[in-house]
Amino acid sequence: MDNKIQGLIIHWTASGSKTTVEDIRGWHKAKGWRDIGYHRVILHPDSIAEISLLKWYHLVKEGRELDDDLYLEIGEEGAHAKGFNKSHIGICVVGNTNYTMHPLQKVALRETCRTLLTRFKLAPNTIKLHREVNQTACPGEEISELIKKFRTERLA
Ligand SMILES: [Zn+2]
Repeated sequence: MDNKIQGLIIHWTASGSKTTVEDIRGWHKAKGWRDIGYHRVILHPDSIAEISLLKWYHLVKEGRELDDDLYLEIGEEGAHAKGFNKSHIGICVVGNTNYTMHPLQKVALRETCRTLLTRFKLAPNTIKLHREVNQTACPGEEISELIKKFRTERLA
């Protein structure tokens, strides 16, 4: 089956640090898509009002739904990387060139990758950058360097 999940693709929003899941869903629906194109979004703490007890998992939000089998059935397939939407899970980090990742975002991204790799029985080297599969700068330098580091670790 060609819709077997083969890996993760990492994106950024290229937007302000207060960007919410609802913002992204609105941008994607404005393109005529039925829902947000990504399966997971890693927010920046700036978008969360009460940050005194903020934990990394408060930054991880669900986008398009995933069930527990190893396939992206109709309705689960994403809209994030041309040619890879039927085979790869899309993860988007709120980020841009004019601010750096928050330390909790780095933990949230690592834990989200680790959890999904384990759940879908994938190796760390199946995490791809959007720029590696399509003509784009996404997800920028900082996130790209972090992902390259994750690939060398025993994440799952
Ligand atoms: Zn992207």
